Amino acid sequence: MSVAAKSDVSDLPREFDYLIVGGGAAGLSLAYHISREPRLASKRVLLLEPEAKNQNDRTWSFWADAPGVFDGIVAKEWQQIAFRSPTFERVIPLTRHRYKMIRGLDFYQFVQRALAGNPQFACVATTVTAISNTADGAVAYTPQGEFRAQYVFDSRPPELARLQQPERYRYLLQHFVGWEIETGQDAFNPETAEFMDFRGEQQQQARFMYVLPFDKRRALVEYTLFSAEVLPKAQYEAELGRYLHQLLNGQAYRITAEEVGAIPMTDHPLPAADGAHIINLGTRAGRAKPSTGYAFKRIQQHSARLTAALAATGHPPQNLTGDRWQFRLFDTLLLDIMQRQGEQTREIFTDLFRRNPVERIFDFLDERTSWIGNFQIMNSVRPWPFLRSIGHVLRGRPGRR
Ligand SMILES: Cc1cc2nc3c(=O)[nH]c(=O)nc-3n(C[C@H](O)[C@H](O)[C@H](O)COP(=O)(O)OP(=O)(O)OC[C@H]3O[C@@H](n4cnc5c(N)ncnc54)[C@H](O)[C@@H]3O)c2cc1C
Repeated sequence: MSVAAKSDVSDLPREFDYLIVGGGAAGLSLAYHISREPRLASKRVLLLEPEAKNQNDRTWSFWADAPGVFDGIVAKEWQQIAFRSPTFERVIPLTRHRYKMIRGLDFYQFVQRALAGNPQFACVATTVTAISNTADGAVAYTPQGEFRAQYVFDSRPPELARLQQPERYRYLLQHFVGWEIETGQDAFNPETAEFMDFRGEQQQQARFMYVLPFDKRRALVEYTLFSAEVLPKAQYEAELGRYLHQLLNGQAYRITAEEVGAIPMTDHPLPAADGAHIINLGTRAGRAKPSTGYAFKRIQQHSARLTAALAATGHPPQNLTGDRWQFRLFDTLLLDIMQRQGEQTREIFTDLFRRNPVERIFDFLDERTSWIGNFQIMNSVRPWPFLRSIGHVLRGRPGRR
């Protein structure tokens, strides 16, 4: 993967303490957390990743109210967010939190550099074709042969399209096209991230604009949907064009980069392990929050949790993710509403932002609220869509429109 990644493995051992399969957000995060843990300094780790990871293929944004291990590469942070819908608009100062952004390429390079100087780690540029448990560990199969370890951490993307059971679970995507643009004159307020701008047409789906202004003349502008199917690319582009024309009063702009993505939003169970010695990571382990698609901070929490247990006991924790059933139920209910009546999503988020402090909303989405906070959140949104979805959950199948 990095300059240090090997494709000739003839001088490499075949046995390690840990294998990390996939060097994207989750694989590199776990590797970095392990590299910072002195109690794991004797562990030998092999990272298996086919791609060079030398492109800025995504931008991660997240809110945080505590320092994170990647704060040094945060490209920009905001102290205000804006929420907008046709019936309610508010610019919200953040007190406890900051909204932060990390560029994918900065992240890949930062971790690659940190690992390159560490003899504990080796990287092989290869594709893992299969992984299986053995009596005392696990083995990863690659075109360069087999590698064994006590634990294999697997972050290959889940094969959701193959696994889908639409009669039991809900399958949506957070899908978007984003443009980084530059204007000739001042056009943006760099203090405020436009978190959700729902003022456009919903067309029976949750559709919003998301704007991260880097300075007065440069911003990332994304047209985002929560729905089952991606759109033809021209449709996102047309909406972006329309929105920017209005926002910039017809002023010209230049597109300097493009971001395209589709993140799974599903209540399909994505297991945190596959047998005793294969531990799943990232999207594969359900770290993309089903009702929002946010994953980066959950990936950091998961990496920290795994690393702490490995250091303390030599093994991953019994409870691999710490997920709580109440929040899984809330995710399922919201997914059910989005699938059934996507346009209700705008009203639900409007209720949330109108009736709750942003700290409570962020804590709820971070799955940190107590039952009182959960009650306050549920009490702030219109009940009928949720009551109907509870019926569908009790019947064990998704609702239809
Ligand atoms: C464009 C985009 C923008 C996003 N923005 C945000 C955001 O702002 N905030 C947020 O919280 N989340 C965001 N997400 C969601 C989530 O954080 C990312 O998808 C994140 O990269 C998921 O991490 P991961 O490790 O599971 O997957 P990835 O980062 O995709 O890493 C998986 C790795 O596995 C490798 N791999 C695949 N097959 C094999 C194989 N057979 N053998 C070995 N390696 C293999 C791949 O090459 C890849 O490097 C975004 C996602 C996308 C796609």
